[in-house]
Amino acid sequence: MSFTEKPFPKVAPNGIALKVQLDDEKLKNELDPLSYEVLRHGGTERAFTGEYTDTETVGVYKCKACSAELFRSEAKFHSGCGWPSFYQPSESDAVILIEDRSLFPRIRTEVRCASCGSHLGHVFEGEGYDVPTDQRWCINSVSLILDIEES
Ligand SMILES: [Zn+2]
Repeated sequence: MSFTEKPFPKVAPNGIALKVQLDDEKLKNELDPLSYEVLRHGGTERAFTGEYTDTETVGVYKCKACSAELFRSEAKFHSGCGWPSFYQPSESDAVILIEDRSLFPRIRTEVRCASCGSHLGHVFEGEGYDVPTDQRWCINSVSLILDIEES
């Protein structure tokens, strides 16, 4: 895999500056190569290889790049698609959505962290899963860190 190196955008697609401006060079040194490619270059981990695909542990899923809370385990479900699947984010403003035409004519909705702009995955709707929102937030394990809650 090779990616064109270009500076990571400092503003969200709505033109508002990202709350968290991460140093890409520093991040590259801190993260493993796959996490870096997915988070900062919109890559995708291979299906059924991710650490959290079938995890049922209770906790909070945070952005691996900036630690912002993104998803909660209560909204996680088994979709069988090979990636961690949620039916909603923790808060609607925890994420930003972007129209993704990279597989045109198929148009997908990309999901990014609203705090630092890093790539998380995609969201799909109307697939018929038995979840409250009829949405599947299909998120790369390598974009997430599970913070386990003490009970
Ligand atoms: Zn983030």
